[in-house]
Amino acid sequence: MSHSINNRILRVDLTEGRTWTEAPGMEFYRKYVGGRMFIAHYLLKELPQGADPLGPENMLIFAAGPVTGTPVPGNARHSVGAKSPMSGLYGESEAGGYWGAELKSAGWDGIIFTGKAEKPVYLWIKDDAVEIRDAAHLWGKITGDVEAELRDELGDNRVRVTQIGPAGENLVRFACVVNDLNEFAGRAGMGAVMGSKNLKAIAVRGSTRPQPADMEPLKRTAQWVARDTFAEGQPHYIFHEYGTGAMVKSKQLEGHVISHNFRDGVLEGAENSDAISIKENVTERMDGCYSCSVNCKKRVRIETAKMTVDPKYGGPEYETLAAIGSNLGVTDIMAVCKSAEMVNYLGLDSISAGSVLAWAMEMVEMGVISPEDLGGEELTFGRGADVLRWIEMIAYRKGFGDVLAEGATHAARKIGQDSGKYVMAVKGIDLGMHDPRAMENMRRQFAVAPVGGDHCGSAHKRNSLANTLGICQFLDYDDELKLELLNAATGWDMTLQELDDAYERGITMARQFNIREGWTTADDAMPWRIHQPMAMGPMSDQVLTEEQVRGETQDYYESRGWDRESGLPQADTVERLGLQA
Ligand code: SF4
Repeated sequence: MSHSINNRILRVDLTEGRTWTEAPGMEFYRKYVGGRMFIAHYLLKELPQGADPLGPENMLIFAAGPVTGTPVPGNARHSVGAKSPMSGLYGESEAGGYWGAELKSAGWDGIIFTGKAEKPVYLWIKDDAVEIRDAAHLWGKITGDVEAELRDELGDNRVRVTQIGPAGENLVRFACVVNDLNEFAGRAGMGAVMGSKNLKAIAVRGSTRPQPADMEPLKRTAQWVARDTFAEGQPHYIFHEYGTGAMVKSKQLEGHVISHNFRDGVLEGAENSDAISIKENVTERMDGCYSCSVNCKKRVRIETAKMTVDPKYGGPEYETLAAIGSNLGVTDIMAVCKSAEMVNYLGLDSISAGSVLAWAMEMVEMGVISPEDLGGEELTFGRGADVLRWIEMIAYRKGFGDVLAEGATHAARKIGQDSGKYVMAVKGIDLGMHDPRAMENMRRQFAVAPVGGDHCGSAHKRNSLANTLGICQFLDYDDELKLELLNAATGWDMTLQELDDAYERGITMARQFNIREGWTTADDAMPWRIHQPMAMGPMSDQVLTEEQVRGETQDYYESRGWDRESGLPQADTVERLGLQA
C-alpha cells in the first residue's frame, strides 16, 4: 500500500466461484494510474479478440482512481468497463456517489469479473473478506428494494451497493449499473454485461479511509471550493444552485434544444421541465457525492393523487431531462420526473432509453414502424404518460419493447427501410444530449471518443484525466491542480509531462482495443442528421458538413500522434507510450 493506492485488485471468476488478489506494484500504477486507464489496459491485455460482449468471456471491470475516496470535493468517481454490447468496441462509463470511495476504504482499487455464475449471485466485500453469495431472492427486484434488502441482510445500513435493475437482468442492451440508487455508470451497456454474468450486485463496506501522503493541498482545495466558488459568477455556482440542466432557456434562444430526435432546435415549453423549474417546484433538497460540497444532485419528491416520485432515486440531471423530456417532445415536469425515477429503479441508461424512443417515434411518424408492430400501443412525440409505459415495456422486453430493448442501432438493423439513417449514435452508442451543430466541443468529442456518442469528453485531456484519477468533471480543476491532488494523494512526484503521457497512453490503448475489434475510420463519423440543418429555429440556416467533421477528426488524430488518414497510432507514438505488443 502506498497512501491512497491500495495495490490490491480483486479478481473474481464467476464460472468457478473463485476470488483472488493481485498486487500489480507501484510501477504498474505509475504507468496505468487508475480508472479508465486500468480498464483499457486489462481489456487490451486479457480479453480475447472477438469475444461476445454478452458471453462469459467478456470482462467486467470496476476501477477507482488514485484520488477516489480522499477528502477533497469531486473525489467520488469510479469507472466501469467492458467490451460494449452496444458497439462491440471499447465500453466504459463513470459514476459518482459513495460506492467507489467505500471500495477504496475496503482496501481495493478495482474488481475484475470474468466468467458467468450458474445462478444469480452478489458479491459481498467487507474489507479483506470477500464472498460470492446467492442472489435468487434479489433477482427480478428494482434497485431500491435490493439495496434495502441487502442492508437488512448484512446488518449494516452503511453498506454501499452497486447493482443492476430488471433491465440488466433482461439483457436490455443499454442497461446501466446503478450505485447508491441515484448514481449510474450509464453508457455503453455495462448493466447488460453485468446481467449476462448473473451478477446482481456488489455490496461493499470498508473501515480504513485512504491515507493521503499530504493533506494540505486537499484541505486547501476543499476550502477554496466551499468558500469561493459557489457565488454567482463563480465556477460552481450553477451546479451548486441547480445541478445540471439550467441552460435550457439559452439553448432555446440559440436554437439547439434537443428536440424530436435532434430534428428541431426549439421546443415550445422546454423550460417547463428544466433544472430551474425542477428545483423550484419538485425538489426536496440538493444532495451530493462523498465528501463533495458542490451538492449538485437534485432529490425530487412528488406526492399527488396521480403520481409519486421517491427522492431516494434522486432527480433528473440534464442528460435525463433532455433525453426523456424535450427529445421526446415531453415538457410536463411530472412525467419527466416520473420517467427519470423509472429508468433509475429499472436500471436503464436514460440517454439511450430516450434516444431509442425518439428514433422509434420518428419512424412511426414516417410509417416505417406500423400500428401492427406496436400491438395497439401509442408511440408518439409529446405524450408523457405513454413514455412511462414504454420505459417499463423496454425494461421487461414486453411487446415491441423487446425490439427497442436492443437500442436504436440494433433495432434499426432489424427494422431496415433506411431507418438507420435516423439513428442518432456514433459507434452504436447514442449521442449525449448536446447538438454538435451548435457545440464545437461536442463536435470534437462525439466522432472520436472511444465510447461512441459519449458526452463526457473522454477523448480529450481534461476529462480523460479526471476519469483516470477518479475526479468529477464538474470540478473546475486545471491540470496543475489535478497533478497536485494526485501527488498529494499518492506521495508520487509525477510531472505534468508524465500526466500528459498518461492521457495519451489511455486514449491510445482504447484506440488499440477498438482497432483490434474491427474499428475503421468510418466509425469516427457523425449521424446523417448532424449534417442537415435544424428543421426550425435560429439555427435552421446552418449546416455542419461532413468535410468539416472529417477535417477536425484528422486534426485530432494528428495531435494524438496517430496517422492523419488511417487514424492508426504511429509506431513512434506506441513506442514513446510503452504500448508495444
Ligand atoms: S460536483 Fe456533483 S456530481 Fe460531482 S462529485 Fe460533486 S456532487 Fe458529485
